[in-house]
Amino acid sequence: MQPAVPEPVEPAPPFPTSLCHRCAHQRDVKTASSWFLRCVKLESKYPPQPVRACPMFEPRRSDC
Ligand code: SF4
Repeated sequence: MQPAVPEPVEPAPPFPTSLCHRCAHQRDVKTASSWFLRCVKLESKYPPQPVRACPMFEPRRSDC
């Protein structure tokens, strides 16, 4: 009998209080052990987290 292969564990969402989680411009970038919040509006792509206020924020449709 072979040993059980553990299920991969997804990393926890980073900065759960960040405004980006509720923004239409946020995209998740995940690796095997990391999870980044990418912004498609910012030239820098990865804003300093956690974002508390942002003039480009637009709520996701599911949050409307
Ligand atoms: S627009 Fe602002 S709130 Fe939205 S993902 Fe980019 S940095 Fe975050």
